[in-house]
This record gives sequence, structure tokens and C-alpha cells, in this order.
Amino acid sequence: MTSLTLRNAPRSSRASRLAAYSRCPYCRQHTIGRLAKLRARSVAPAICPSCGERSCTGITPLSLLAHFALILVCGTLLRVAGRTGNRWTLLGVMSLFAGGFFYICYRTPLVRLERYPLQRNIAIAVVTVVVAGLGWWWYTSSP
Ligand SMILES: [Zn+2]
Repeated sequence: MTSLTLRNAPRSSRASRLAAYSRCPYCRQHTIGRLAKLRARSVAPAICPSCGERSCTGITPLSLLAHFALILVCGTLLRVAGRTGNRWTLLGVMSLFAGGFFYICYRTPLVRLERYPLQRNIAIAVVTVVVAGLGWWWYTSSP
């Protein structure tokens, strides 16, 4: 019993440390707190206490993909919910979407502060519009 707790203790403490801190994109150490990470924007970036570099919560190709997947799944569920006409199913889908959205934002790693954030935002906006257009076409065309 005691050997089991001794063996498990370091692992669980490491897991909690990993959960509480985000990895700095420059020095790759888990130095930035979760709350500081969620608040970090390009206008008010998080500063790493280890290396002093600035980083912010951004959109990575993976998180963008995860958001699109979430929209696709919830859109499909919403169609099914709309057909059955149950308001609780609708509410369930909406909460699933909100939960998934926040989960993805929470899981997205910090990115380096970009030198040209406008160009990057334009690129993200173009990709979003194209995918939204394709999604709308898929949504309206299929029976
Ligand atoms: Zn750092």
C-alpha cells in the first residue's frame, strides 16, 4: 500500500503541474499559467518568467481544424435535432458546441508573437470563409 502511494505520488504531481502550466513556445518549459495563457493576446502577451520572451494564445492549423470538425459534427447533430423537434436535444447540441469550443481554446498551445499579425489574421479569415462557404453548400445541397 505504501509502495503504491510512493510510486504514484511523483507521477500525479507532474500531471497536475502539466495541467496548470502551458509550455512556452521559445524555451519549451512549462512556465506560463493557464489563466495567464487564456488572457494572453497579441496586444497583451504573456511573458515567460524563464526566458522573458513574449507569446500569445493563437490559432494553430490543428486548432483551426478541430474547430471545423466541431462545427461539422454539431451542424450534423443540429440537423437531426431540428428534424426531431426536441428543444432539449437542441440545447444539448448547443452546450456540446460551447464545451468543445472552450476545450479547444484551452488545449491550443501558446504561439510566438507574430511580427505581422494582420497578414496572419487575413489568412485565417480567408480559410474560415472558404470552409464556411463549403459547409453551407454541403448543408443546403444534401437532402
Ligand atoms: Zn520561455
